[in-house]
Amino acid sequence: MAKIGFIGLGHMGGPMARNLIGAGHALMVFDLVPAALEAAVAAGAGKASTPAEAAAHGDILITMLPAGSHVRSVYLGRGGAIEAAAPGALLIDCSTIDVQTAREVGDAAAAAGRAMVDAPVSGGVAGAEAASLTFMVGGSAEAFARAEPILAAMGKAVIHAGGSGNGQAAKICNNMILGISMIAVSEAFVLAEKLGLDHQKLFDIASKASGQCWSLTSYCPVPGPVPGSPANRGYKPGFTAAMMLKDLRLSQEAAGKARAATPLGAEAAAIYGEFDAAGRGGTDFSGIIEMIREKRG
Ligand code: NAD
Repeated sequence: MAKIGFIGLGHMGGPMARNLIGAGHALMVFDLVPAALEAAVAAGAGKASTPAEAAAHGDILITMLPAGSHVRSVYLGRGGAIEAAAPGALLIDCSTIDVQTAREVGDAAAAAGRAMVDAPVSGGVAGAEAASLTFMVGGSAEAFARAEPILAAMGKAVIHAGGSGNGQAAKICNNMILGISMIAVSEAFVLAEKLGLDHQKLFDIASKASGQCWSLTSYCPVPGPVPGSPANRGYKPGFTAAMMLKDLRLSQEAAGKARAATPLGAEAAAIYGEFDAAGRGGTDFSGIIEMIREKRG
């Protein structure tokens, strides 16, 4: 059993914290939203009144925050989590943020004698609730070895991606594949509709042919072939288009800095940007097929 501070109890952090409590860990939690805080306290956590109090609670601090600016504000500066955490504490940021911020905050932690890993997740709210997330971890081998058993209580896979920031790099590369492939699969189904090819027939063939991919076989954007996919429930998320847009924009920011050519990633970001600007960001990201269907070639 570990003493764990946990900051950020939203859609993901709330169920993740509950799974740590269920695994027998002693949590001290903080969130700016009182309802989120009270829900975790009702599940058995101690209540911190500041991020620093949560950070000082034990040997480990976990954060699950919206974006890089929140991670900077929680960790850095006087009274921040790095300063408040005990010397030798392990800091684990599970938020999805830009690679540069992850590396800067990791460096600041190291300079203060605190180990830190970036450990963004794949698996969404359903994975957070079922403790079946995949963690992509960036940091030293020693820090990874300490983080792994804690993260394993919230997930089904914990993978070391390399040094600081590499967890975030893995996350945005993976989600760039996902965003592009969902658009590709959606375009294929819309073309099939116009050519008089049945959805199920295209699925049966492409899922056994070279078009096979996760967006097709696990998350099919038309109702029918994959009963559990959001297409069967009006594209209720799941993983929202707004979240996909955030991750695609992070990939494009990283590609720009690294001078990597990612034209399909850029196009996917533009397509999800259009969907979001039309007020559809709260739809599951597979709902992009509806916008593609509405367009005329
Ligand atoms: P969320 O907005 O539901 O939760 C974030 C929480 O952080 C909120 O409760 C908010 O009040 C809290 N917060 C913000 N600033 C704070 C501060 N300074 N101190 C304390 N608490 C603060 O977001 P979420 O859906 O839980 O996502 C969290 C992270 O996980 C994001 O980086 C997101 O990209 C990533 N992610 C989300 C999903 C998903 O399906 N929701 C999937 C994979 C990864």
